[in-house]
Amino acid sequence: MLQRQGKKIVLTASATEMSDFLNNPFVAFVGGFAKGPVPLWFLRRSLYPPVERNSDGKAKYAPYGLRKVEAILLKNGFKESDVAVVHPQDLDNFVGPNTKAIGISSMDPTGMGYVSKTYSSIVGGGEPMNAIEFRQLVKNQSIHTYKPKVIVGGFGSWQLERKKVADRYGVDSVIIGEGEEVVADIFRKAVNGEEIPRVVRVQKSCEENEVPTIRHPAVHGCVEISRGCGRNCQFCTPTMQKKRDIPLERILEEVKTTADGGSSRITLVTEDLFLYGAKNPRFIPNKEAVVKLVKSVANVPGVKAVQPSHTSLAPVVADPSMVKEIAQVLIECNWYYHGGKAIVTSETGVETGSVRLMRKYMVGKMLPYKPEQWPEIVCQSFGIMNDCDWYPLATLIIGLPEEVEEDVNATLELMDNLHDYNAFYVPLFFVPLENCILMDKKGAELDSLNKARWDLFIRCWEYNIRIWRDTFLKHRIPNPWIFKFVKRVAIPYAGTAAGIYYRFKRGEQMQRAIWKMATA
Ligand code: SF4
Repeated sequence: MLQRQGKKIVLTASATEMSDFLNNPFVAFVGGFAKGPVPLWFLRRSLYPPVERNSDGKAKYAPYGLRKVEAILLKNGFKESDVAVVHPQDLDNFVGPNTKAIGISSMDPTGMGYVSKTYSSIVGGGEPMNAIEFRQLVKNQSIHTYKPKVIVGGFGSWQLERKKVADRYGVDSVIIGEGEEVVADIFRKAVNGEEIPRVVRVQKSCEENEVPTIRHPAVHGCVEISRGCGRNCQFCTPTMQKKRDIPLERILEEVKTTADGGSSRITLVTEDLFLYGAKNPRFIPNKEAVVKLVKSVANVPGVKAVQPSHTSLAPVVADPSMVKEIAQVLIECNWYYHGGKAIVTSETGVETGSVRLMRKYMVGKMLPYKPEQWPEIVCQSFGIMNDCDWYPLATLIIGLPEEVEEDVNATLELMDNLHDYNAFYVPLFFVPLENCILMDKKGAELDSLNKARWDLFIRCWEYNIRIWRDTFLKHRIPNPWIFKFVKRVAIPYAGTAAGIYYRFKRGEQMQRAIWKMATA
C-alpha cells in the first residue's frame, strides 16, 4: 500500500485545529483554555472531535492556511499524489520512508495567543489545550522514526521563536509571515534533501494574484475575501499587512470548491467584511461591492449558511443601509440563533472606552470619525446591528501599555451604556504579538488585575450570562423542569462551590467574579 511508504509531503495541524468544534467556529476559542484535570481522550472525543476523513484516509476539511499551502505546492509542480493533508491521528498511515517533509500550520503552538494567555491564567489548570496538542503532534512517533523535515508556519508560528522551543520540538524551519513567496521553495529543498533555512521572516505582503485558490474545502467552510486591514491599530498583526481584496470570481471559485466538497456552510475570512472593495482612504464602505459579494456567495448552489468572521464598527454608522441589506441576506442563511430567533454575528473590536487610549494606539480604528467619538460610535453601531438582529462578538483589551484606572473606568462607563444591547463580550489581556507595533511592550498578566480591571472582566461575563444563558441551556436541555432546576438551583450552587474553591486558588476577586456570574 502506497501509504506505508509514505507521501512525499504530509500537511497537518494539531488536533485542536483539525476539528470544527462540533460545527461552531466561536467555540474553537476554548482551545486556548487550560484542560485542567479533564483527560485528553475525552476532550478529543467530546470537544474537538477529528474532522471527517475521505475514503482514502485524508482529511475532508483542514485549516484554511493548510489548504493554501496545499494549493501553493500544487501550483508549483507538486502532484496531488505527492501531498496528503491529514489529521494528526492518521500520521502513521501517511508518514513513511518516502516522506521528506511535514508541513504544520499553527495558530497558537505554545499557548501565547490572546485567549490562551487570558483564560488559562484566570481559570487555572495548567497549559492551554492548543499547546498540549501541538507538542503531542511534533512528538508523533512516525515523525521521529522517519525524520522528514518539519516545517511550521501559520499565524502563531512566531511563538516557537519567542519561546525558543523550535529545536526542542524537532522543528527544522519556521516560516513567520505570509508564505506565498517562500513555501514552495522551502518544500522543494526539503524534498530534494537540500538544506532549508531555520527561520524565514517574510515582511512583504504578496499580491492578491499570487494567492492560489484552495483545491479542497477548509474547516468551517473558510474562504478568504480580503487580507490585511490598513487601520493601523498598534497591538494588531494584520495591520502590518497591505490591505488586499480577493476578486469576486476567485472568492466564488473557492465557495464552489467548498460547497462541492461537502460543506454547506461558508465563513467569509476577513478583517472587515464591511470594507470589502472599499478604496476610500477615509474607510467609507463600498456598499455595492459588499452587497454583491454577500448575495453572490449566498446564491452559490449548495450554500446554506454564510458567516462573516470579522467586521468593524465605524462602517456600520457610516452606512446603516448597507448593514440592513446584507443582514437580510445573512438572516436567510443564518448559522446562529438567540432565543429561537435567527441572528447574524461577527467578531468586532471594541477594545476600550478610553478616548485617550484610542488616540494613542488606535487612531485609525474609528475612521471616518474622530477618536473622541469612539464611545458614541460603539453604542450607535451596536444599536444599528441589533435592529437587524446582528449580535456582535466584541473583544475588549485589558492592560494596554500605560493603561491607568481612568481608562478602565471609561470602558466600564461604555459597558454601562451597552447594557441593553445584545452582544457577546470577550475581555482579553493585552499580548505583545509578533510583528505588531507594540511587540516590545509588556503583556498584561493576572497579577496586574486591580479592582477596576476585575470589575471590567466581571461586567463582561455578567452580561454574557444574562444575554446567552437561556439560549445556551435551552439548546441543550429541552425539558422545561430540568431547565428551571439547572438555571435556578444547580448553577447558583455550583457557582458557590466553585467560588469557594477559586477563592483559595486565585483570591477574593475570583470568588467575586464567579458568584456574580452564577447569579447574573
Ligand atoms: S481594525 Fe482590527 S484588523 Fe484592523 S488594525 Fe485594528 S484591530 Fe487590526
